[in-house]
Amino acid sequence: MTAFAVPIRPQPTVPVQGSDRPFPVRRILCVGRNYAAHAREMGADGRDPPFFFSKPADAVVPPGADVPYPSATADLHHEIELVVALGEGGSIFGFAVGVDLTRRDLQNGFKAKGQPWDAAKGFDASAPISAIVPGATIPAGRIALSVNGAVKQAGQIADMIWSVEEVLVEAGKLWKLEAGDLVFTGTPEGVGPIARGDLVEGSVDGVGSLSFRVV
Ligand code: MN
Repeated sequence: MTAFAVPIRPQPTVPVQGSDRPFPVRRILCVGRNYAAHAREMGADGRDPPFFFSKPADAVVPPGADVPYPSATADLHHEIELVVALGEGGSIFGFAVGVDLTRRDLQNGFKAKGQPWDAAKGFDASAPISAIVPGATIPAGRIALSVNGAVKQAGQIADMIWSVEEVLVEAGKLWKLEAGDLVFTGTPEGVGPIARGDLVEGSVDGVGSLSFRVV
């Protein structure tokens, strides 16, 4: 047995609905601007090829856990997203509901300077997620998020600019997709700030829901 120079961190995992075998997260890829109305609210338009950014695997926050308000921001934003969980050979294993938490103030600064988004997107605990529902049937219904019971985001999965299949094809041109990869597929319009104490609840028809408290 190999001895390591520093302690090995636990494997990040996401529960799988109806199973006692958790999903081991390899990496998290995220699509930017995949709903037209959200692209417009972010100042973009048109159907540019999808672009990707990533979060570290251990950014996942399992269902039921609180989300700590991150350091270095005064404008933490919610982005509700359909998440695709990949199985062997990059096939679809299942789907989950996720929130792509964003330090919007940092992101705006990075955009203005042409700098990378890592610190705006890939910070600790930036990927709260529901249990994964196994199955390859791509959801087509409503995606929504509320803060303290007030609906902030409500859209339709069918309104994605790039469909789940197209997103996976494009990602597959850039990376060899493997079991354990999670793909956040973009958010509809209505992103906005959340604060300490807020209760965030999200859902995707046919997949399920998630909720977390910001602490
Ligand atoms: Mn997003």
